[in-house]
Amino acid sequence: MGRGGGIGTPLPVLESLIAADLLDPGFPHLVSTSMPFIIRTEDEPERGHVPWEMPLSIAVFHWSALWNELRRRVPDESYRGGCGVKGGTTLDDGVRLELDDGTSEEVDLAIFADGYRSLGRSLLFPDATLDYRGYMLWRGLLPEARMRDPGVPGSTMPRLSYRDGRGNMVAYLVPDENGSTEPGRRLVNWAAYIPLPPDELDGFMVDRSGTRRTGTIPPGEMRPEREADLKESMAAALPEDYGAIVTDTTQTYVQLIYTSRVPSYGRDRMCLVGDAGSVAQPFTGSGVFKGQANTAGLIRAMEEHADLDDALSAWSEEQVATADRLLALGEQMERAFIWNGLDLAHADAAATERWWRKAVTFPEDFTYEDESAV
Ligand SMILES: Cc1cc2nc3c(=O)[nH]c(=O)nc-3n(C[C@H](O)[C@H](O)[C@H](O)COP(=O)(O)OP(=O)(O)OC[C@H]3O[C@@H](n4cnc5c(N)ncnc54)[C@H](O)[C@@H]3O)c2cc1C
Repeated sequence: MGRGGGIGTPLPVLESLIAADLLDPGFPHLVSTSMPFIIRTEDEPERGHVPWEMPLSIAVFHWSALWNELRRRVPDESYRGGCGVKGGTTLDDGVRLELDDGTSEEVDLAIFADGYRSLGRSLLFPDATLDYRGYMLWRGLLPEARMRDPGVPGSTMPRLSYRDGRGNMVAYLVPDENGSTEPGRRLVNWAAYIPLPPDELDGFMVDRSGTRRTGTIPPGEMRPEREADLKESMAAALPEDYGAIVTDTTQTYVQLIYTSRVPSYGRDRMCLVGDAGSVAQPFTGSGVFKGQANTAGLIRAMEEHADLDDALSAWSEEQVATADRLLALGEQMERAFIWNGLDLAHADAAATERWWRKAVTFPEDFTYEDESAV
């Protein structure tokens, strides 16, 4: 994923990263304390009708702050930037990695943390598919100082349904690029989930220079007419104050939403971490969690098992179980947020809460707290 933009992760995940000294205690973040479910109505056109507000505790921050702090902890001599891995071969007791510069390296264990289009995944599981979910995320960041109504979203993380049609938008404040959490200096991060049928992808994913993009169109590269159309439809679909956040944002960008499932996290001294393994829907807010939980689990398994192959097999089993729960949670959220949303305009608090509790049940009592201990 790119390093721009805001993201959220359950507060316990952030706290365990700080406890493990992977982030500084003063790591700049804000906490979203509730999720109001909102829709624009005739009576409440500006901020929208809010039938119910769900309590939650999500740490929100800037991607680049997370990346910079993690990178700072990796010694320069151990970090080889700008050189991709293009292949890997299993040896009797390790792996030979072939690099883009024509050289190769032999290692005891290759940990592929190479994202959702992972080379490691394709080496281990050539048949694993990347499944397009039928919708995309269109997103952007607007300086708080430029918001027409600085009263939204405050410390909340609203889920905004569209007036007509499927999908929804989330918006929340994050610290600015320099880590400032001062009111007036923060940024509002918004992300609109919009259905996009597979047969329209080819046309939609062409950027302003005419190039067909794969997976993402980066900030500033969307075709201007496409961006203008989306702004117009969001202005009609959202409460006015939120519509203005979208229409006032420049340099918006697109990410297609995919999932993937792997049957194992490792084999033959190659293993997968983060999005290189299974990929769940972004509603689950699980990207940071997975990276942290996969890695902490691997260290723990290596401490507990004298034999590396035993450690990898025990660790892999645990990671598959967690990933499968995340995928099941993602499917529930996807149905609730994209395909079968409630008609919020005609729902009261009790009906909205009842719908949510029925729609998203957290498979097998899955929580982020259990798995995130470092
Ligand atoms: C729209 C969207 C919104 C999201 N929102 C959230 C959120 O709010 N909270 C959250 O926790 N998660 C979120 N996620 C998920 C999160 O972004 C990912 O789970 C996370 O970035 C995965 O981290 P990673 O390190 O595994 O992979 P990546 O961040 O993709 O990093 C992979 C790295 O590997 C490098 N690489 C790739 N191939 C090679 C190669 N062959 N050789 C060398 N290097 C290579 C890449 O350049 C990249 O630097 C979201 C995802 C999407 C798509």
